[in-house]
Amino acid sequence: MLALYAVFLLALAIILVIALPPLVRLMRRQRLNEQPLPPGWERILREHWRLYPRLPVNVRVQIHQRLKLLMSETRFYGCAGLTVTDDMKLLILAQASLVYQHASLDAPPAVLLYPSAYVRDDEQVDEAGVVTRDRHVMLGESWEQGRVILSWDEIEHDLTSLDGHNLVLHEYAHQVDGESGDMDGAPLFLDPDARRQWQAVMSDAYEHLVASVERGTEPAIDPYAATAPEEFFAVTTEYFFTAPMTLYSTYPAVYEQLRQYYGEETREWFTRCPA
Ligand SMILES: [Zn+2]
Repeated sequence: MLALYAVFLLALAIILVIALPPLVRLMRRQRLNEQPLPPGWERILREHWRLYPRLPVNVRVQIHQRLKLLMSETRFYGCAGLTVTDDMKLLILAQASLVYQHASLDAPPAVLLYPSAYVRDDEQVDEAGVVTRDRHVMLGESWEQGRVILSWDEIEHDLTSLDGHNLVLHEYAHQVDGESGDMDGAPLFLDPDARRQWQAVMSDAYEHLVASVERGTEPAIDPYAATAPEEFFAVTTEYFFTAPMTLYSTYPAVYEQLRQYYGEETREWFTRCPA
């Protein structure tokens, strides 16, 4: 009888250990959802983020909801002596909120923030054991293990310009892309038809861009998009949110795929008066 009781207690303990943390997080998120946006947050977004006044009210409301959650669950690390302020966190995560329309917010990536461009040293060992070292000057990176690396001065520039370049959107698009299991330029689709359509359209446009760059033609969008399918998705995401007219006039079918995926008609944001 005692043994049976012990087994019951052990099973109960295992269930609690597995089920309790997600339950606690769900309850905490529900409380957050019900709370109003903390005072001052909207003023900071309005004053420092040029896109914010162009966003329709319903999009702002969605961003506010995701922002409360991301602010509470994202870990930030200042690098190279940078002190990360709450305003910096807010402005980074508000932009990141745009790409989380359908993607899961279950495990927001940690953010490593540098004051400016940083150097990454890569070391490779070939089959003969010869070590080669490369130095790369980086503005940002997105790692599959849930980590995003960003440079603040690049973000400051992006906040005031709407020209198809946006570091935060780029690196978080890689995170969203990785939800499907691979960072391969195709985010997670539950509908197989939607995924097939996505792959056909994005592959066509990517190959067209690669051919243009190889011919030496100046492309209408950043040629970095031609370096890999995942970069094509990340770069076109930057254009979709910050220069949708350019994307639409160059690759209308890509714009349409992103419109369906993100659920926003971003061209309309740029035809209305900022409010
Ligand atoms: Zn990239």
